[in-house]
Amino acid sequence: MNPTWEDDSRPIDLHIHTTASDGDVTPSGCVDEAKRLGLAAIAITDHDTMAGNAEALARGREVGVEVVPGVEISIDYPPLTAHLLGYYPEPGSPELEAILSGLREHRGERNPLILKRLAELGCPISQEELVAEAGGGVVGRPHIAAVMIRKGYVRDLQEAFDRYLAKGAPAYVDRAKPAPEPALRALLAARAVPVLAHPQAMGARSDEEVEALVRRLVDAGLRGIEAYYPAHSTGQVSACLALAGRFGLLVTGGTDFHGSKKPDIRMGRGPGGIRMPYRLLAELKRAREQL
Ligand code: AMP
Ligand code: FE
Ligand code: FE
Ligand code: ZN
Repeated sequence: MNPTWEDDSRPIDLHIHTTASDGDVTPSGCVDEAKRLGLAAIAITDHDTMAGNAEALARGREVGVEVVPGVEISIDYPPLTAHLLGYYPEPGSPELEAILSGLREHRGERNPLILKRLAELGCPISQEELVAEAGGGVVGRPHIAAVMIRKGYVRDLQEAFDRYLAKGAPAYVDRAKPAPEPALRALLAARAVPVLAHPQAMGARSDEEVEALVRRLVDAGLRGIEAYYPAHSTGQVSACLALAGRFGLLVTGGTDFHGSKKPDIRMGRGPGGIRMPYRLLAELKRAREQL
């Protein structure tokens, strides 16, 4: 008998950032790294842009790694840091493009405010330095942190966030984000499978708080949750699996690879170093067919 997808344990990683947003490895470089590590598939999930997908898909065909196009969107659900992953978005969907370009425009308004605060705090950075650091990709706080390191204001990215850039720190500036429902609608309009990213790493203080968001998102069309995530403890993974079972959601897993910006993350290695199996992706593809 042929093995079925239920048996497919080839390793995958469904959450990867490239230079199109705040990762520091190019889309092709991410695919090459996946190949080197023996991964069967990776998903490109850059913040607020799909600009890295085409290059990764092309490279994947060249070297024999399956590439899943995707995107990651921040949603407005204070005080949590809530992110939606969307898998297989159709390029050119006007609803999704509107949400993504709105998010990028708000970044354009926010970055100068952060730089102004940093200047007041004795860490001047010019807009030109920041844009050069981002190399044409979506500019995020990790790029600001990288310039701060280079200029000697901080030793490393963690210090930049802890002392200046993290929520609650003196140079933190919030940015406008879409409400959960419009973001979900836009993903669904583009036939992207919507998945809640890292549910146990949103800053929730209780399981009830996570569940309340999941319930609201499910009502608006959420299809899955990212249970396997390096920052999730074993107990938190179990909590996600239970939540998925209760709401009939599929389960995904990914590392949030950002290259050297998150040096502790190894592509393809989930919580406790486990491998995430291809059968998760097989289920995701079935969900895509049903959209
Ligand atoms: P932004 O999109 O500009 O709001 O920046 C968010 C990104 O910064 C996240 O995707 C992470 O890559 C990184 N990040 C956010 N919070 C922290 C933190 N406390 N420490 C390190 N990196 C962080
Ligand atoms: Fe990021
Ligand atoms: Fe995220
Ligand atoms: Zn991410």
